[in-house]
Amino acid sequence: MRRFLGALAFVLLALNQAADTYARQTPPLDGVVRLLLKIEQVMQAGTPEAYMDLLSAVANRGLAQEASQMFIEPDITRAVIRERDREPLEGTLPGDGHRLMVEVFTERGALARIVTWRLDIRRVPTDTNEDEWRIAGQQRLTSIDGLHRLALNPAKQYRARNLVIRSDDLEIRLEDGYVFVANIPEGPTAAVLLPVAGGTVRFRPAPETEREQVRIYAGSDTIETRYEEVFLRFSPSDFRERFPAEALTEEAPDVAIFRRADAIFRNDVGKTYGLDLADLSRDAWSLQPPSGDILAEIHTRRFQTLTYSKASNDAEDISLFDRRRRRNISVYPSAPRVAAGVGLFEEDAKVPYEVRHYQVDVSFDPTRQWLDGRAMVRLKVKADAINNLTLRLAETLTVRSISSGDFGRLLALRVRGQNNIIVNLSGYVTRGTEISLVITYSGRIQPVSPDRETLSPQFPQDSTLDSDTPAFPGEPSLLYSTGTFWYPQSTVPGYTTATMHLTVPEPYHVVASGELAPGSPVVVPGRDRQPSGRLYAFEARQPVRYLACLISRFVRVNTRTVSLVEPLAGLATGGSSARPANPFPAGSFNNALDLMVEVNPRQTTRGRNTAPVAADVVAFYTLLMGDCPYPDLTLALIEKALPGGHSPAYLAILHQPLPSGSSNWGSDPAAFQNYPEYFLAHEVAHQWWGQAVGWRSYHDQWISEGFAQYFAALYANKSRGNALFYDLLRRMTRWAREQGKAGPVSLGYRLGHIQGDSRIFRAIVYNKSAVVLHMLRRMMGDEVFFRGVRRFYAGSRFRKAATEDVRAAFEKESGQALEAFFRGWIEGSGTPQVLVNWTRDAGTTPPVAVLRVEQRGKAFEFPVTATVEYANGTTEDVPLVIRERTAEFRLPLKGDVKNITLNRDGLTPLEIVGR
Ligand SMILES: [Zn+2]
Repeated sequence: MRRFLGALAFVLLALNQAADTYARQTPPLDGVVRLLLKIEQVMQAGTPEAYMDLLSAVANRGLAQEASQMFIEPDITRAVIRERDREPLEGTLPGDGHRLMVEVFTERGALARIVTWRLDIRRVPTDTNEDEWRIAGQQRLTSIDGLHRLALNPAKQYRARNLVIRSDDLEIRLEDGYVFVANIPEGPTAAVLLPVAGGTVRFRPAPETEREQVRIYAGSDTIETRYEEVFLRFSPSDFRERFPAEALTEEAPDVAIFRRADAIFRNDVGKTYGLDLADLSRDAWSLQPPSGDILAEIHTRRFQTLTYSKASNDAEDISLFDRRRRRNISVYPSAPRVAAGVGLFEEDAKVPYEVRHYQVDVSFDPTRQWLDGRAMVRLKVKADAINNLTLRLAETLTVRSISSGDFGRLLALRVRGQNNIIVNLSGYVTRGTEISLVITYSGRIQPVSPDRETLSPQFPQDSTLDSDTPAFPGEPSLLYSTGTFWYPQSTVPGYTTATMHLTVPEPYHVVASGELAPGSPVVVPGRDRQPSGRLYAFEARQPVRYLACLISRFVRVNTRTVSLVEPLAGLATGGSSARPANPFPAGSFNNALDLMVEVNPRQTTRGRNTAPVAADVVAFYTLLMGDCPYPDLTLALIEKALPGGHSPAYLAILHQPLPSGSSNWGSDPAAFQNYPEYFLAHEVAHQWWGQAVGWRSYHDQWISEGFAQYFAALYANKSRGNALFYDLLRRMTRWAREQGKAGPVSLGYRLGHIQGDSRIFRAIVYNKSAVVLHMLRRMMGDEVFFRGVRRFYAGSRFRKAATEDVRAAFEKESGQALEAFFRGWIEGSGTPQVLVNWTRDAGTTPPVAVLRVEQRGKAFEFPVTATVEYANGTTEDVPLVIRERTAEFRLPLKGDVKNITLNRDGLTPLEIVGR
């Protein structure tokens, strides 16, 4: 749903939020309100010249003339002006001048627009005590044009015969039925279909992986069902093509039939392309879909309401959504878009600006979940020129002020229903310019929701796997991290440095994603009946993807310096050749890391025992990678109902389940009871994978989880030996095989989404990904594999990596073409189904066995072990690589053979389906 709303973000700009933000701060004065009412009257009267009577003596009459022409269009049937912000006007005495931001809403019949203006007004001297104001200057800031008040036309009823409405992978048929339309001046833009007979819908996505998701949802890879009614939105320019004239006959309207259509129309019209204008208008105003786009609300008995959308603004432009269950069934790029080679998720290439540094000063009141913040955002403009920019900040937080050194105080608008604020720069800013914005804000903000179902591409790794029950007896903690928008941030997250000053009252403490400054925390004495508190200063000198902090009661149980050894081989440099140079190349080697262990009070013993293990894990990964991206690490042990963790940069949070909590946990894909260090090893690995190396889109999230999971297995190998290592891999392999049909690794957060089962996500994104990495290692050998891992790491350090970057690094080191391997294992679902048989070829010396491996269904590339069992009881393992649908191997024999088996080590996720 989040994505679905995102598609319509641009239509949801709304204004009452801004009213909330500003109105409370600046109670309007009567005289100002009277002036705005006069402007409204002038607009409704349609007399631009009357605007000139409202001017102050100092106003530039030429500019005012131009503005009045823009303000006051002919035929305005209704005008509403609302004040959104007020500040003192420069060059006036206090109380004698205001700079206002106003929103001007005008209706002309069924058409409307909203324009945001800056109005400078001055008080004029009067004989009476009357408070009177005049316009001294005005500037138009932003506008939303083309709002339509839609209504179904009761006078036009069509009888449709053999009407077929098509969009990509969708067909809506109406053999016989009624069609009603809603018009705007350009033509019909909405329609309701009511079948008399033969109303059917058919949806069959072109991509195979999407058909698999439809099969999981509907039991068949094609949704084909009767519908009761369909509501459609489209561009008027597409009407003739979508509704061919020969399929429609106009007939005399029937009131009863119209009423049924109108009920559907009223129910559905506001769900998309809609605007809620709050105090500007109570009517439902709607924007026009771009040409080629289509939206269908398909009401069926079987699936209730299915929403199909083709939205050219989205990288993945086709989607099918189940409204009742709020599930994305399909989301993918249309065939024409794929054929045109339009890159997906190249959002970084067209970002309007890039944040360089955050300075975040926040004081928290944990009992109220309240914060007061001041953030300085230093950014660099990347677009040619911008006159406004969008920042992300939680919707529940109120912006108190925004200012910048160059522009002074700035005006900001909230986007309704979203965590976005639009900042109006009072002029154009060109590429390369650096701006610092200072934003003060406050409000109530909920910590990271532990609900797995809110998971999205931005969802933190490994957030709580189950919610804490209200009766949870552990120490409470509040996590503010990615996805909560607790500080103003870029809408396209990138890597930045940061400083944070965080204040909490007694008895709370904070850990955060940065180095704790020397002398920190400082005790802040209580005042005004406020309790005393602690002020913490953190600095993230290395680039981080997002800022996080965790508030709880902590005891510091250990501080140590871990010495790190650089391996001889060093880091390979450079990523794939197609990418621009990495702005943060792996260079200087940190030869020490400061480790702090902070725990909830009851976890001190566990904390002391964990500290040396955490140090060992860090030293091991550093040796493996030749780099430690962050010079500090705080390990926080907090009490939670279930095991799990979360790892922002500089910080690893581990849940310590309480004895009562973990009843259903044992059967989870991420439960490894015989490896107690698993969570620690996995979370610490996220400093390299997920933090230092990010991921580009949800399709690439496996890079973070798969490498972290594989590194956790490598640490098991190092600390506890081969037996545990192979046992872990075998279990991951089993999960990969059992859940493989649920979808490909590249489906990311969508794995298990339709089923509502997060174990599927962990089975595939954690475990199958790790198994895939181990298969690569088996195919190319240890040395080449680890060179490939380092090449990928070095080329992707402090940037967002994609699956192609992983493949390119391994291809470069191994000289092997890996396209088919990645297509099968990362982009494809399922696992190999093989037939195995062998015969003895006695005609050669020494004798050989001929082993034949044949794949049913999809053909994969994979390594597998063949085990030869001799009559004398000995066995011999032979590593093989299968690259074809049918592969034949001649295995030299050392004696009489009893049997030859495939995959006895259980390390390849395959199924033997016959001989
Ligand atoms: Zn993880």
